[in-house]
Amino acid sequence: MSQTLTIIAAVFAYAALGLLLLLSWREKRRYRNELAGWKSRLASDTQQSRNERDRLLDALGDAFLLVDSGETIRFANKAARALFEGREILDRQVREAFLDGRLAEALLHCLQTGEPVQSRVVLPQQTSPRGDLETRGVNAWIIDAARLPDSPDSNPLTRVVIRDVTSEHQLEQVRKDFVANASHELRTPLAIINGYLENLLDEGMLDDRDITRRFLTVMRKHSDRISRIVEDMLVISRLESGEAAALKLEPFKFRSCIHDILERLESVISQQHADVHVTMPEETLRVNGDRFYWTQVLFNLVENALKQNPHRGLRIEIGCIRQPHGVRIWVSDNGVGIPSADLPHIFRRFYRVEKHHSQQEIKGTGLGLSIVKRAIEAHGGTIGVTSVPGQDTRFFIDLPLSVIVE
Ligand code: ADP
Repeated sequence: MSQTLTIIAAVFAYAALGLLLLLSWREKRRYRNELAGWKSRLASDTQQSRNERDRLLDALGDAFLLVDSGETIRFANKAARALFEGREILDRQVREAFLDGRLAEALLHCLQTGEPVQSRVVLPQQTSPRGDLETRGVNAWIIDAARLPDSPDSNPLTRVVIRDVTSEHQLEQVRKDFVANASHELRTPLAIINGYLENLLDEGMLDDRDITRRFLTVMRKHSDRISRIVEDMLVISRLESGEAAALKLEPFKFRSCIHDILERLESVISQQHADVHVTMPEETLRVNGDRFYWTQVLFNLVENALKQNPHRGLRIEIGCIRQPHGVRIWVSDNGVGIPSADLPHIFRRFYRVEKHHSQQEIKGTGLGLSIVKRAIEAHGGTIGVTSVPGQDTRFFIDLPLSVIVE
């Protein structure tokens, strides 16, 4: 009996042990599954936050890099990948990735010293980080590098922002050139006037009426030139300072504007025996614009043709024709023309083609075409030029349909 009881007790004990083992095995399995679940959730969370970080950094307009202490690029956002397009930069050394040492210099300084650096670098076209994609000539960049505050001391990460400031640099350059050119243009006539004044006052020439008259005439010519330059500069600055938005737009007959400028230039036209044709199938075409600037545009273009070709037999055509998408206006002549090398620069301030004449003969300010271009752009139009010297030099203006008054 007692033996039976022992067996039963042993069976129960084994059963209990088995149950315990089963329970513990199940518990272990549950724990393992849970752990795997946590791990995968953690991995997916990490991946998700990394994706989120990348998405945010990709949304940045500036190029953004992460560089480790071994000077190797570990991360590049979308803008950085586009900047270095066609060249693999990930896992490459900074010096290899950047084409110009000047670009790498600031960043390397930060990597070596741990000090934040902000530096402006101006590069020639050939060594732009954009490589062969660079077509803008001299290009400018701001490199902003700083060590990430929470990166490990053993291998600190440095973040680098590369900002393209080429257009700001070019604008600044244009402004500087304008001031330099304007000063130069004004200095020449001023020096001439001063020279004559000195002669008159210090050399005692005032008593000679003939000489005095001759000197004063020259001085007047040069002071007229100063006035003209200042006047032209004021018109340009008005057009550039946003006043263009306040153009006095009024409908006017384009034909009457042509008539006005031909009247103003009548004496030069007849003096040079120039042949001026107006091609305007729609005589009554009306344009919504600032008549003051349109008169200046046409005047400058026709005056240029006359001025550059003081010989007899010049033929000038002024045309205006309606097109499906707007109006085309042109002024053409068969004179000396503009060499193709000068054509891209012709609308720049103070730019002159001086090959055909001496500056004594032709007294332009070099601002005429800049005014023309800015005035047309203020009216929503564009201007272009083609030139076959001796045959056809043609300035053509395209205006949108919105300027036509029906
Ligand atoms: P400028 O006051 O010297 O005339 P513009 O800006 O009006 O200055 O013109 C710039 C240069 O473009 C001129 O100096 C001239 O060399 C050239 N140019 C303009 N129009 C003509 C033309 N119709 N034929 C030949 N050259 C021209």
